Amino acid sequence: MRVTPLASGSQGNATLVETAAARVLIDAGLGADDLEERLAAVGVAPRGIDAILLTHRHRDHRHGARDFALRHRTPVWASRRTARSLGTELHRRLRELPVGAVVVVAGLAVRTLPLSHDAPETVALVLEHGGARYGHVTDLGSFDAALATGLAGCDALLLEFNHDLAQLWAGDDPLQLKRRIAGNEGHLSNADAAALLAAIAGPRLRMVWLAHLSARNNTAELALAAARSALGDRADVRVEIAQQDRPSVSCELPIELPVELPVEPPPRSPCIGVCVLDPQEVCLGCLRSRDEIARWPRVDDAGRRAILRSAARRLAERVGEPGARGG
Ligand SMILES: [Zn+2]
Ligand SMILES: [Zn+2]
Repeated sequence: MRVTPLASGSQGNATLVETAAARVLIDAGLGADDLEERLAAVGVAPRGIDAILLTHRHRDHRHGARDFALRHRTPVWASRRTARSLGTELHRRLRELPVGAVVVVAGLAVRTLPLSHDAPETVALVLEHGGARYGHVTDLGSFDAALATGLAGCDALLLEFNHDLAQLWAGDDPLQLKRRIAGNEGHLSNADAAALLAAIAGPRLRMVWLAHLSARNNTAELALAAARSALGDRADVRVEIAQQDRPSVSCELPIELPVELPVEPPPRSPCIGVCVLDPQEVCLGCLRSRDEIARWPRVDDAGRRAILRSAARRLAERVGEPGARGG
């Protein structure tokens, strides 16, 4: 499975998900012409899209869906109430995407999870194919344990980091709009998104796109810092901003874990009993020098291996000595 965010933000949202067998778009919030252009930028023909999945009816998520689907005869999957926002011409292309259920779309298992947002039947999506799991979560004002549970175990996540709360309240938006954005059915702040990320980041997680960033009330730096703090010391998770004006970095899933190199056993002290030093202050048994014997308990495994190598060199030298061969 390969995931490529094509556009993210209040000016329009769309994400391309590809498998060996199919290509689907999650949301079609750009105009149809712009959608075609973004697809062309990543080498995909519009006719190559097998389905459009809509998360909710807000314009920035469904704006180009109708025209694109009519032009290219693309099936559109949407909940009943989202479908009502698309007009009647599309009815032959519409398929129902039930809320809180699993359906198979173009060979992909698609699970919908209800979100708290001011559009009816807004959903997060979890797509599964070939052992890979991708979670797509934007447009929510709050979250609960059920959502966190539904999003567990993903290889990659696209997660809304909409605004910095302090920047939102200090900004120039009308009070009514600020209340809507910050409300339970609005958008997720960096702090809330970080809390959700911390709750759902499992051992398989390798990629997170920070999505739907507000152009006025957030910065990439603030969102990245919040996400990184949520991930703690997880250096194995890549974090990218999902861009508004161009396709973002894509990700192939599942990312194979690096092959574990066989671990060398820790070196053991070569003399089991007490070392007996010869006149050159080298142990007759293990050939470590007095100094090396003294250092042994204090050095790490690499240091001990170095000591064993110098003892082996000493043995080779002694075997090479004329008298040592008994000749
Ligand atoms: Zn939106
Ligand atoms: Zn919305």
